[in-house]
Amino acid sequence: MNPDLQIWHPFTQEALDPPPIRITKAEGVYLYTDDGRRLIDGISSWWVNLHGHGHPEIVSAIAQQAAKVDHVLLAGFTHDAVEELRGKLRTVLPRELEHIFFSDDGSTAVEVALKMAVQYWKNVGRPEKRSIVALEHAYHGDTVGAMSVGAESGFTDPFRELLFPVHRVHSAYCYRCPVDKTRATCAIDCVQKLEQLLEEKHAEIAAVIVEPLLQGAGGMIVHPVEFLQRVRRTCTEHGVLLIADEVLTGFGRTGKMFACELAGVVPDLMCLSKGLTGGVLPMGATICTREIHEAFVGADRARTFYHGHSYTGNPIAAAAGAASLGIFEREPVLERIRTIAEIHCERLAAIRNHPAVGEVRSIGTMAAVELRADDAGYSSKMRPKLYKFFIDAGVLLRPLGNIVYVLPPYSISAHDLHYVHDRIAESLELFKN
Ligand code: PLP
Repeated sequence: MNPDLQIWHPFTQEALDPPPIRITKAEGVYLYTDDGRRLIDGISSWWVNLHGHGHPEIVSAIAQQAAKVDHVLLAGFTHDAVEELRGKLRTVLPRELEHIFFSDDGSTAVEVALKMAVQYWKNVGRPEKRSIVALEHAYHGDTVGAMSVGAESGFTDPFRELLFPVHRVHSAYCYRCPVDKTRATCAIDCVQKLEQLLEEKHAEIAAVIVEPLLQGAGGMIVHPVEFLQRVRRTCTEHGVLLIADEVLTGFGRTGKMFACELAGVVPDLMCLSKGLTGGVLPMGATICTREIHEAFVGADRARTFYHGHSYTGNPIAAAAGAASLGIFEREPVLERIRTIAEIHCERLAAIRNHPAVGEVRSIGTMAAVELRADDAGYSSKMRPKLYKFFIDAGVLLRPLGNIVYVLPPYSISAHDLHYVHDRIAESLELFKN
């Protein structure tokens, strides 16, 4: 008899974690389990879902596209679905970004941006500009290049020798200020480390990569807009490219279509994924300026960007993406986002002085509560306790250690969002000393 084939679930170990929950139906903000429970998807299934599960327009676009052109390579070919998505993205992306390169997911969108930045400088005759600057607490994905720019952690430890070296600079993590200031009195002093680095080493630096305004996996850290503005300014002053990884923040999560808009900043390269397809199929994209693209054009073949994944620009994923952007046009999505943001603010204000709470922070549709902990960080012993508490209460939340956060699909009702916040308020009682 053949041995069994077991699914290896990410982030879990059979000996330490509860068995996986079997989902038999996903509709709107709800996930239905095989044992008759209904969970509110409070984290949009790892920050991907925008309009609720099973939105009829996306479902029908996928079905129609699958019957028409299921998949065709994008090297030397094109198709209506990817052209339609391109056209719809044109209406929401910053005008300055004129070329889009499709890939598979967030990690590959980041890999593409890093490789484009490095090859850009090579192609324009500055091959010595090849190092990358990244922030503390950063997360950009789990592939080797993306891990290299991500912050060092237990996740990346086993691979340390494989990762390429990067310059690491401060993040604007105000609650744990890296330069011992308080927000009320600081002048965004944390950005000085980057400013000084670029001043001294710009001749060897290709790009700075940031998660604009919101560092997700690193702890739902919200940056002041001035931080991003200063990062942009210093990159421009020193001739260094700025890569904005909007994989999490893109498509309305922070209140605007893209987080960069909130700061009035345009990056040289932008990475998109997650919400790109409404959160139903994998797809990544890296968008760049005309100036960057032009460096890859010319009689010499060696200028070519030799990067391409099998499923690049997949028609079914592209059709889902176009349908998702159509929903932004037809439904009051931005209004929904505003309502979520208002409820978050009101509910966080009500718990901010609770003795178990260190800090509350929010931006757009993301609300986070950093709990006081002796063992702060992803491995905090609070995490499994909190996870179970929420699941038992019918809510899917996956705290990042001692940081509980909500990032719901935009279609969540006020009633359900209040229910989630009620459970968060109750969970604080688990840790009252
Ligand atoms: N970049 C950011 C900011 C992310 O939050 C993530 C995933 O959470 C990624 C990149 C990687 O995306 P993926 O998991 O689709 O590879």
